Amino acid sequence: MTLHVVYDHACEHCGAFYIPYDREVPCPNCGAVEEERFDYIPQAVQSLRFNKRRGGTYMPPAWWVGSLGDHILRLLFSLFDAYESREANEGFAEFAASYLADMNWGDQGYLEKHVLAIAIRIQPELDRPDQPEDSRTIWG
Ligand SMILES: [Zn+2]
Repeated sequence: MTLHVVYDHACEHCGAFYIPYDREVPCPNCGAVEEERFDYIPQAVQSLRFNKRRGGTYMPPAWWVGSLGDHILRLLFSLFDAYESREANEGFAEFAASYLADMNWGDQGYLEKHVLAIAIRIQPELDRPDQPEDSRTIWG
């Protein structure tokens, strides 16, 4: 079992696919700030933590990409797994930037910086102590 984040969005000005995850996150392609907002970060954090607890890695054994939200999650799984097994002791932002720069983005180059911003936003959340719903086992 895995936790999917089913979300698709294309910029109404330029058609670029992206996730307006926080207030004032602009389209990474044309810079427009749209009305549309989607609370992606907490759901993505939940999905990442869920996999990690169950299988020891962020990447689950199988992952069906059914939406943009899932597509970006898949990139995050491999990024955070790679970060945990890194050899040099570099900071996360630096590591993530060079990891994502090595990927082939085809005609969606604008997504590289977008996914980097999402990853940097998520990383401190992953390091936080477990959320209340996770500590139920401790308190019975
Ligand atoms: Zn746009």
